[in-house]
Amino acid sequence: MALTHNLGFPRIGVKRELKKALEAYWAGQSTEAELIETGRQLRERHWAIQQAAGNAFVTVGDFAWYDHILEWSTTLGVVPPRFNHPKNAPVDLDTLFRMARGRAPSGEPAAACEMTKWFDTNYHYIVPELAADQQFYLARSSLFDQVAQAQASGYKVKPVIPGPLTYLWLSKGESFSSVEDERKLALVPQLLQVYKQVLTRLAELGVQWVQVDESALVLDLPPAWQDVYRQVYAELATTPVKILLATYFGDVADNMELVSSLAVAGVHLDLVRGPQQLARVLPGWPADRVLSAGIISGRDVWRTDLDQAAALLGPALAQLGEQLWLAPASSLLHVPVDLAEETQLDEEIKSWLSFAVQKLDELSLLAATLNGAVTDAQDAALARQRAALSDRKVSRRIHNPAVIERVAAAASVARERTPFAERIVKQREALGLPDFPTTTIGSFPQTPEIRKVRRDWKAGALSDTKYEEAIRQEIREVVRFQEEAGLDVLVHGEPERNDMVEYFGELLAGFAFTQNGWVQSYGSRCVKPPIIYGDVARLIPMTVEWTAFAQSLTDKPMKGMLTGPVTVLQWSFVRDDQPRQATCLQLALALRDEVQDLEKAGIRVIQIDEPAFREGLPLRKADWQAYLDWAVDCFRVSTSGVQDTTQIHTHMCYSEFNDIIESIAAMDADVITIETSRSNMELLEAFERFNYPNDIGPGVYDIHSPNVPDREWMIQLMNKAANRLNRKQLWVNPDCGLKTRQWPETRSALIEMVNAAQALRAAV
Ligand code: GLN
Ligand code: ZN
Repeated sequence: MALTHNLGFPRIGVKRELKKALEAYWAGQSTEAELIETGRQLRERHWAIQQAAGNAFVTVGDFAWYDHILEWSTTLGVVPPRFNHPKNAPVDLDTLFRMARGRAPSGEPAAACEMTKWFDTNYHYIVPELAADQQFYLARSSLFDQVAQAQASGYKVKPVIPGPLTYLWLSKGESFSSVEDERKLALVPQLLQVYKQVLTRLAELGVQWVQVDESALVLDLPPAWQDVYRQVYAELATTPVKILLATYFGDVADNMELVSSLAVAGVHLDLVRGPQQLARVLPGWPADRVLSAGIISGRDVWRTDLDQAAALLGPALAQLGEQLWLAPASSLLHVPVDLAEETQLDEEIKSWLSFAVQKLDELSLLAATLNGAVTDAQDAALARQRAALSDRKVSRRIHNPAVIERVAAAASVARERTPFAERIVKQREALGLPDFPTTTIGSFPQTPEIRKVRRDWKAGALSDTKYEEAIRQEIREVVRFQEEAGLDVLVHGEPERNDMVEYFGELLAGFAFTQNGWVQSYGSRCVKPPIIYGDVARLIPMTVEWTAFAQSLTDKPMKGMLTGPVTVLQWSFVRDDQPRQATCLQLALALRDEVQDLEKAGIRVIQIDEPAFREGLPLRKADWQAYLDWAVDCFRVSTSGVQDTTQIHTHMCYSEFNDIIESIAAMDADVITIETSRSNMELLEAFERFNYPNDIGPGVYDIHSPNVPDREWMIQLMNKAANRLNRKQLWVNPDCGLKTRQWPETRSALIEMVNAAQALRAAV
């Protein structure tokens, strides 16, 4: 008999109850007691779901007020000095919120802690900040309180905590030069003492199993870290609980020997991303060690092929019996809560999907199959699942012969443009640009009026004619302002776009949208990723009319604005029945048509945003190049069909460029704009070292702040850039789009920016 369990459940609530409760509390509209009560109810509800799905335990510790790593930092007493936290004192909720957001209903504001992406997901965690002499101590009891809550409700509990080494790996500190800095390891002995206290206390509460998440084990780990893993788990083995060491988001690969050697009672492996791990470990698997098979994806929204899963796990069950556990591959934090909330989704597409609640049901179906204990109801459910999956394999909604044919011929699509040195001369002449040309990244302030226009139109409360006129009016104003300000390359301002991926997804075949498919991004912020379920094709031109209208208002070049194939892919749930790169190529071909149509309509500058380009990097360095190759190729497919005189821009927000600069250059965009103002142009170092030949617009002011940038400051920044690069290469632009800003500061900032560019031109 294989039992089932869960690594973590989405905490935000099916109706985003946690988001609403948090925001009300932060705004002073509700009390701490009310917030705490919402949290209690959400946990109760999520445990009931796990229990109903037949899980052997409910998972406790996956709930977090803001982020589970921040939850753990505050439990370990890791509060940076600027929050003035009294030494060895308990950490309260408002201190946690101040660390996350810089402010809370009580306490002095201070600079918030940094946030960064959780492995290769779109979830962001709060980076722990450690001092060189960091003292750890048990500073919050929330984990124990939640265990007690679950027990009081009659549940058998399996707590989950971040593993000590993954926690250290993800942390930073002024005294550490890098993530893998070995000096961090000096903190291990003291950290271990607190872990022992936690585990002992859990044992006292009657807990038998504790899930310890060590996903750093799917990364490239330096040897020193591997050694410490052995020591740490030998120590933790002396505590009175059984440890289930959980690895997920990938194959542990060359760390497998290490993992197998650790003194733990059980190991969880991600068999969705690393199915080949099973055959590797089974032969030598100790008879008394639990193997938790992560078999249902926690990273996508697709139903699982349960027959295939059962076939994979059959031999494992035969060998391990009760020592085989079944689970989702990772926490379900990264998928929406409940498909049953989707009342408007096409029934056929819906039959292929599975959200957190459904994934736990799939898990229990799989367990019943493997255990040979299928009820009539389960049998019917299995039949439905099989039918849905075989329908998906052939459905005309997914498989579009025209797209398949086009992709097959894509190899012959030319990716090369004339050498940049030749192109740029022609472009400068055709566009009549000065040195230090000025531009913006695309969006202008999205006022409440504009948002309302879009909303009303979508709801059918505003006619097409009225909607179009309102958008045109906005474009007129944006263009008029840019002309007055003296910008060189103008934009239409993107007033018709709610979101840079959703806008395109709605106009492309192969995309579906949910009503409630929310996934936590960070804190109270959620995103609703589109679902790419089928072959992607452009149904109609997507941006040509608006862009051409904007161009008709001015003699200056109007920049067309598209979201790149890699970014659309990264910010969507992507179909799992073909490689990601195949879907990306379909997107690239659709965008290629749009680029060419823009050119035909007289648009001479076209920007393809790729802010998620770096995000797509795989977790293991060995897999980087393959990704970079197809990502660059897709960008080139989109952009290479234009004449020499048409200028291609790309925008990448904030990104680390050092180790991918070759691929950035291989994209061969005529102009790349990046976020650099807060790093004081230091990001340009990679471009300088590489002798990056094409044009660059290093952002000269931070669009996250309402402050109007100082002209002299921008001139200084550009002079720094000119020290690193050729001044002829440089553009002057803000860091990113302006949609979150207000008009008054936007006007002043751009006028100052143009003044700065003029001063730079004058000073030769
Ligand atoms: N063109 C987009 C904008 O200006 C780019 C946004 C982004 O880079 N995230 O809003
Ligand atoms: Zn940006």
